[in-house]
Amino acid sequence: LYGAKRYIKGHTLGEGTYGVVFKAIDKVTNRTLAVKKIRLGKYKEGVNVTALREIKLLKELHDPHIIELVDVYPHKRNLHLVFEFMESDLEAVIKDRNIFLSAADYKSYMQMTLKGLAVCHKKWILHRDLKPNNLLLGSNGQLKLADFGLARIFGSPNRRFTHQVFARWYRAPELLFGSKQYGPGVDVWAVACIFAELILRRPFLQGSSDIDQLGKIFAAFGTPGEAQWPDMTCLPDYVEYQYSPPQSFRSLFPQASEDCLDLLQRMFTYDPKQRITAQQALEHRYFRTEPAPTPPHMLRRPS
Ligand code: ADP
Repeated sequence: LYGAKRYIKGHTLGEGTYGVVFKAIDKVTNRTLAVKKIRLGKYKEGVNVTALREIKLLKELHDPHIIELVDVYPHKRNLHLVFEFMESDLEAVIKDRNIFLSAADYKSYMQMTLKGLAVCHKKWILHRDLKPNNLLLGSNGQLKLADFGLARIFGSPNRRFTHQVFARWYRAPELLFGSKQYGPGVDVWAVACIFAELILRRPFLQGSSDIDQLGKIFAAFGTPGEAQWPDMTCLPDYVEYQYSPPQSFRSLFPQASEDCLDLLQRMFTYDPKQRITAQQALEHRYFRTEPAPTPPHMLRRPS
């Protein structure tokens, strides 16, 4: 039993960047799964060899903090990616007003996110599109990163879909300036935005266009100077911005601890070469000092 015949198709879970996602049951293992149908319309010859090689790489990526790609099969001009089923996502937690998030709770979410990120970056796989609804939550509270590597394999997500605009709020400044040689730092910036959102309980920098997004970033952290980010002026879409002074991290996040502010500051570093890496962030004293991260099974689930 293989391919489409192996799965009992359930109801639609949602419409994503690359296509529809539906619930399914594996007839062989009885396991509940989520199948992502990817439209291949624009690939006349089907998926190319490089893409298939990269999908194979993702299938071999086994980690407690990365969503498992269980199977891949073609069906009626579409490619189906079969993932483990997850109950909820971090966006639902942030939006659920019945859930109080303590400093220990968001430390736990950040630690799980960074663990997944560090594993992918070690294998040179970038996400490029991290946002709270890509951080999925399992029934035991475990957080897992979803959609890893898909942006690279299937090209830039289609901006026609309105939900994609939200991804802008998590874009690193080098991406907004059109950098094409970006690295893992883009994911660290996105995680910093999610970190800020967990603390503030609202998206931190809500730009209405790419230009406005950079304006919002500079209004918070100050317009970067040549010394702070030497390569900035060489980026393809670089434009000069009116000077804004930086605000103190303390004033941006009044309720955060000193350790927390220090880590945030290192993640929100303008120059991607100086930005903290996921692995270094995990080793930051923030994760060793009080309060200890809440054990995943103790985290409250959204209703
Ligand atoms: P996006 O492109 O906006 O990140 P996705 O393509 O990842 O969206 O997913 C679309 C919807 O499908 C999500 O909102 C989510 O509810 C659901 N979904 C995606 N992956 C899973 C999964 N592994 N388990 C359960 N639901 C999922």
